[in-house]
Amino acid sequence: VFSDQGRYIVQTKVAELLDTIDPDRIVRLAMDWLSVPSPTGHTRQASELFAQYYRDLGFVVETYPDYPDAPGVAARWAARAEGPTLQLDGHIDHIPVGHPPPTMIDGVIHGRGACDMKGPLAALAEAVRVIVQAKVPLRGGLLCTTHGMHEAPHGWGEALSAMVRRGVHGNAALVAEGPSDYIALAGRGSAIYDLHITRQGQVEHELHCNHETPAWAAIRAGAEIERMRAELAAGPARPYVGPESIFIGQVHVGDFYNRVPTEAYVQGTRRFFSNHPSADVRRELEARLRPIVEAAGCRLKLDFQLVREGYEVSPDERLIQSLRRAMTAVDGREPPYGAMSAVGDVSIFVNEAKIPAVYAGADLSTAHADREYIRLDKLVRAARVYLLTIVNYLGAAE
Ligand SMILES: [Zn+2]
Repeated sequence: VFSDQGRYIVQTKVAELLDTIDPDRIVRLAMDWLSVPSPTGHTRQASELFAQYYRDLGFVVETYPDYPDAPGVAARWAARAEGPTLQLDGHIDHIPVGHPPPTMIDGVIHGRGACDMKGPLAALAEAVRVIVQAKVPLRGGLLCTTHGMHEAPHGWGEALSAMVRRGVHGNAALVAEGPSDYIALAGRGSAIYDLHITRQGQVEHELHCNHETPAWAAIRAGAEIERMRAELAAGPARPYVGPESIFIGQVHVGDFYNRVPTEAYVQGTRRFFSNHPSADVRRELEARLRPIVEAAGCRLKLDFQLVREGYEVSPDERLIQSLRRAMTAVDGREPPYGAMSAVGDVSIFVNEAKIPAVYAGADLSTAHADREYIRLDKLVRAARVYLLTIVNYLGAAE
């Protein structure tokens, strides 16, 4: 407990720390990391730059070769041996879509991964540098992590999951992507379903073939999915996330007006609550669709790829309150609570590491865009939020 005077001194020191954040360092680091492409599954070289940055800061760095070309990296720094560890995390892979080389023009950093998420990783790294070099007397430690199997469909978070299975995680985790103007307390789980509908025999003229066709099976399955969509939309909603959903993204069947196809393909998404495990969601979907496809004389193979399970975090968690106070101080207004509409790695921390976790982004608006960029002022603002969240969470040791 600080006296009023002590609190004043601490607040003054924190204000000085915020002023120590160096935008030029964020730019140099982001450009350095952007100069090495790191498509999902091929992030080893970029991860080495991340590891070297934290080694140079005096962190103890370990890498985990569960995915040799996409290793996990964990950098530890303990102000005190005892006390909680705050994990600061972000994936280093980007989508495997071409992009012009990285550039910095008029306060904007352009490049594949600039926004999602090497820019935010650089902002986080700068906040950590300021805290470590100022020797802020924290009551615990920092664990800075990166990994490279994040972006679907080439990754499903498995490199992060592997680190968690090794026991490599903090007592709470901040993931440096996602919303920047509110705090997500929940996110729905997400899965991609694929219906492979087939019949026996070969493709033939409609007049030589009187059996039911995969076209009809796919249309009836689609109608059943539409009924499910309406039921879910009218069904229960949970705080912030609303109702569950199902969506059809593509339907493919047939190649000619009078040929009977042998196969059809339907694909879409299913989004579900945190208390509705994906295994149950899959079983329920199959129970609705299999009888319909089989009644149409066809066979069904259902693929169900989990993207991430749903999650919920209590607003009472110290991590959430630390971020809320940080955002309030930096942005001059208290952030509202909401839901993460996309899916990401907080789900892995909450469901697999069983720790509170939260998204804290800089600006995700050009993630996965043809031209990806992020404004430096958004990264500086994020670095300030990260710095204050760390100080709020780990406090100052007496
Ligand atoms: Zn991302």
